[in-house]
Amino acid sequence: MADHRNFEVPRDYALPLQDRLQRPLRDLRISVTDRCNLRCTYCMPREVFDDNHPHLARNALLTFEEIERLARLFVSLGVNKIRLTGGEPLLRRGIERLVEKLARLQTPDGAAPEIALTTNAVLLARKAQALKDAGLNRVTVSLDGLSDATFRRMSDSDVPVSAVLAGIEAAQAAGLKPVKVNMVVKRGVNEHEIAAMAAHFRHSGIVLRFIEYMDVGSSNGWRMDDVVPAREILDRIAKSFPLQQLDANYSGEVAERWRYADGGGEIGVIASVTQAFCHACSRARLSTDGKLHNCLFASDGLDLRGPLRDGAGDGTLANLIADSWSKRDDRYSQLRHTASAGTHSKVEMFYIGG
Ligand code: SAM
Ligand code: SF4
Ligand code: SF4
Repeated sequence: MADHRNFEVPRDYALPLQDRLQRPLRDLRISVTDRCNLRCTYCMPREVFDDNHPHLARNALLTFEEIERLARLFVSLGVNKIRLTGGEPLLRRGIERLVEKLARLQTPDGAAPEIALTTNAVLLARKAQALKDAGLNRVTVSLDGLSDATFRRMSDSDVPVSAVLAGIEAAQAAGLKPVKVNMVVKRGVNEHEIAAMAAHFRHSGIVLRFIEYMDVGSSNGWRMDDVVPAREILDRIAKSFPLQQLDANYSGEVAERWRYADGGGEIGVIASVTQAFCHACSRARLSTDGKLHNCLFASDGLDLRGPLRDGAGDGTLANLIADSWSKRDDRYSQLRHTASAGTHSKVEMFYIGG
């Protein structure tokens, strides 16, 4: 059994690790399952992901111990924020045990990394407290509408919105603050609920963020016409509730922050399509089966599970990660509308972690 305590940063790389565009490696998103209890049309359309869809075999998934080991290396290399995602991360049995392991990691300056989770919240009401107790810091809930009819159109499921709202309440009650809610806006499908969502979450302490529908993966039949630009979303909200822009919390923050002029709280917009933020993107993604992806739109990733299971030492694994990041020059969203973005196939979001 290798001793991971003696791991040192590979000599050739100074911290923070920087890619070719001088972007540091700060965030790690870990997809813990490729399964989901919803079938959002923009992510896992049921026509493609039906009952016959082959999910990853159990032994293809990284175990919690394997995730912990890789996460420890990422944290040693400068990552200070880990987000668990999927698929639906709460479907991974015993997820709180993984949270517990990750919450014990330490950055090179001795701090604990922030541990966050993105979830559709269908199972959150019964798990929020255990997750908090295990050391989870924050949770982001995806909710694309307030009426059952709209939610059904977006998620292609019969789950009632009340179940998601109960999950949000439980997260707040457990002290997973601030809870953020993400709404993907799709033209003609849920855009009519933008103002209702804003009204619902004002004065709640919850930060509602509107996300432009993206062309991730190859299954959702994305068209630019389906995107409601962030600017338009803000204009619509401002008609009912005047807004004032806020400064970013930190460099590289993807959401543009706004607050209600009357003190009703904060909202955000994530304009990944109309205002790409690749210049500050500090995120790496670890897929369910242990591949490292340096961009959400990458067509393939670097296999870490193979070397890990073949007995590679920490130094070797860290070198693989550092080497991959140092060669990174991805900036798909910035190039989306140019010929160089190309038509290469992209991996699905639920697999590499949204
Ligand atoms: N199942 C969890 C959930 O939905 O919160 C976590 C995984 S999901 C892939 C992560 C986030 O990606 C969600 O907030 C979802 O709305 C977002 N997402 C998925 N496909 C998207 C797309 N095509 N455009 C924009 N956001 C997308
Ligand atoms: Fe599932 Fe999340 Fe994808 Fe919706 S966005 S299908 S909840 S993984
Ligand atoms: Fe980061 Fe790639 Fe998204 Fe740009 S397109 S913000 S590089 S994940």
